[in-house]
Amino acid sequence: MRTLDDKTLVVASHNAGKIREIRDLIGPLGFEAKSAADLNFVEPDETGTTFEENATIKALASAKASGLPALSDDSGLAIDALGGAPGVYTANWAEREDGSRDFAMAMQKVEDALQDKGASAPEKRTARFVSVLCLAWPDGHVELFRGEVEGHVVWPPRGDKGFGYDPVFQPLGYDTTFGEMSADEKHGWKPGDAQALSHRARAFKLFAETCLGAG
Ligand code: IMP
Repeated sequence: MRTLDDKTLVVASHNAGKIREIRDLIGPLGFEAKSAADLNFVEPDETGTTFEENATIKALASAKASGLPALSDDSGLAIDALGGAPGVYTANWAEREDGSRDFAMAMQKVEDALQDKGASAPEKRTARFVSVLCLAWPDGHVELFRGEVEGHVVWPPRGDKGFGYDPVFQPLGYDTTFGEMSADEKHGWKPGDAQALSHRARAFKLFAETCLGAG
């Protein structure tokens, strides 16, 4: 395991929601985070078939382009009744023909697919959010961290606080969706805490413990 000594890193993402969450998580640890979007880096094609492969593609592209360590997140929603879909294709389900993203449409697609499977009862709508973080260095070294959170898909969508599919995901043991939670509630973690809630915060906790010596 390689530790991270630089205090500046690139967040290898063009997704405003993810960049905000990673900045929230990394800020208290004293890091300055530049994003691939701010640096005008081209978004690489996500040609992998696993979260790990796609996270690695994104982090290496930003690390090599910037000469700095880069942290990427590849994430998605895996729904049991849909055989794990949309999974690594979670962002694609939101894509319109003109290339823009429409998450109201994507959540409706998920609901239609669940209705096609006759999955109306909560116990038939189990799902997990997955986040794989990849920290890459310009010399090609990478470290990977995976976080998952179990829950189920609700309908109709509730809350407008998060991003993406947050309004339809209710984590196990909670009666609010991620869309109804503040960022702090959704992360459920700050440095030193033993538990985290969101998939991204769970992966981040592993990253902080492993590469930063902070837990
Ligand atoms: P990626 O850029 O290929 O990793 O796409 C991940 C997709 O999953 C995007 O469409 C996100 O909106 C969605 N996603 C990932 N994490 C979250 C989350 O925390 N809340 C809501 N949607 C998420």
